[in-house]
Amino acid sequence: MAFETPSPSELADVFGLLANDLRVAVVRELWLAFPDPLSFSALRERVGGPDSGTFNYHLNELQPAFVESVEDRYTLTYAGRQVVGVAVSGRLDGRDGPTVDATPAGECLSCPATTELRYEAGVATVACPECGLLAAETAVPPAVIQSAERDPAERESSRRESVVRVVSDHLRRTAERLARGFCTHCDGRVDATLVGDTDDEAVAHRRELGVRFDCRVCGAEPRLNVGAVLLADPAVVSLLTDAGVDLRERYAWELAPLLDPESARTTNEGDESRLRVTFAVDDERLVVTVDDTASVVETERV
Ligand SMILES: [Zn+2]
Ligand SMILES: [Zn+2]
Repeated sequence: MAFETPSPSELADVFGLLANDLRVAVVRELWLAFPDPLSFSALRERVGGPDSGTFNYHLNELQPAFVESVEDRYTLTYAGRQVVGVAVSGRLDGRDGPTVDATPAGECLSCPATTELRYEAGVATVACPECGLLAAETAVPPAVIQSAERDPAERESSRRESVVRVVSDHLRRTAERLARGFCTHCDGRVDATLVGDTDDEAVAHRRELGVRFDCRVCGAEPRLNVGAVLLADPAVVSLLTDAGVDLRERYAWELAPLLDPESARTTNEGDESRLRVTFAVDDERLVVTVDDTASVVETERV
């Protein structure tokens, strides 16, 4: 199956469907009621009781893209629910989202200093002010940052800590989704490739540890450290458990031995190349062999 990107005029048609206050109100009310469908009259009442003919016209315009009717009741399609998610998350409003000033974010991987997290223009970075290491750089929707600030009256220090925590959790979720083969932009399937011997810019501390994901649908090319890709692998999880490391307690970029495995060696099996990495946590060691698509072919505790 081949995927084609919609043309600008097709996109304009779809987004144009929502360029109307009443239609936006309809989508919003259906979202608030979701998963329950609403009848024509209940929905019309919720959006302020406009003239029946006008209301009917706009409701029809939203079908079939964003709204569907089931037995004379109306509900959102999958696309309609996605539109609400994007609008509410603040990804599309074009305003300056929240910013976070330098906030302590755990141990540096390569020196004894403490890293700092910053958030600006939708991107979170974790870097070391002493040695300059860039420990993480990841897109995070404004809603994720805003929702971390549960209580505006919360002490400044705990508010900052929850922002660092939520960025770490979001990064791990992004890595897990990509590792399972799903694009974090559009949910299309992605194909992973080790970038070791390509011209791609390295994301990992050593270039042989970089993995690029190519989305078959939207063309996005996110990259991750192979250590992050393997974080959810059962053998890696059991290594951590045996070593008494609780993944939930540590920030993702603090897991030094996992994100920057001690030894990485590329070997060839026939015409396929393999990357062999060794994770070491205290006395526990795990050797993981992945193929050139970053899929695990073998694990061995040594
Ligand atoms: Zn450092
Ligand atoms: Zn995609």
